[in-house]
Amino acid sequence: MITIAIANQKGGVGKTTTAINIATAMAATGWRTLLVDLDPQGNASTGLGIDAAHRESSTYDVLIDERSIQDCIHATEIPGLDLIPATVDLSGAEVELVSVENRTHRLGSALRQHRGHDICFIDCPPSLGLLTLNALGAADTLLVPLQCEFFALEGLSQLLQTVEQVQQRFNPDLGIIGIALTMFDRRNRLTDQVADDVRDCLGNLVFESVIPRNVRLSEAPSHGLPALIYDHNCTGSRAYIALARELIGRLPEQRKAA
Ligand code: ADP
Ligand code: MG
Repeated sequence: MITIAIANQKGGVGKTTTAINIATAMAATGWRTLLVDLDPQGNASTGLGIDAAHRESSTYDVLIDERSIQDCIHATEIPGLDLIPATVDLSGAEVELVSVENRTHRLGSALRQHRGHDICFIDCPPSLGLLTLNALGAADTLLVPLQCEFFALEGLSQLLQTVEQVQQRFNPDLGIIGIALTMFDRRNRLTDQVADDVRDCLGNLVFESVIPRNVRLSEAPSHGLPALIYDHNCTGSRAYIALARELIGRLPEQRKAA
């Protein structure tokens, strides 16, 4: 199984939207896909139609009670896509983890023992605390959604520093599979300028596919559906399909067998 953390310590940049829709696209392509909701807000869980009352087990149980991944999986309505939901007690886990053994390795150990999925996405919370460190410890590689706005690059350099520290301390093989530009608005010249700057700065690390600002993407979660199912033909869905295709192209050869 290849594990991809979707991370950016800024909130509202499109992490959850990207996690849900890329995971759906991968599942639709035949990959047995797992999404781990690591944000106490549980937006990915809600967006996949698993409401709070139906979250019998969660990422909290994996992190704190060391329950197995298999034990905490919830099937979604999308064939081939399973979820480990987040519950509000996950916000307490950030503090509880401070005093446990292997506090940055909990998620990674659980995922490494898990069989039955080809690919796993981790939807990270908007911080660089112990939850995100667990994701970075568990991941083979990182996908970074970046909103095309003025302070985007500043936040990114902080994230890249954290990645470097994680590589030095506990996950030397952690890679960055790509940076995805989100909420792109062609009519806004600042957005355009920021996208150009990011490409100048980071070159091929930036995916060619750009996710446009599209109201269908923001409507879909309130129906408990990925945009890809809610309206598979809207510009946002089509952009996520293109991004998923590009992502597959960047996966190591032996993992593309699926
Ligand atoms: P994060 O997980 O980084 O906090 P979200 O994916 O939850 O970000 O996105 C923040 C808000 O913006 C949500 O309300 C979401 O529906 C909306 N949104 C995300 N991407 C887009 C987009 N490309 N176009 C329009 N709205 C978007
Ligand atoms: Mg989110």
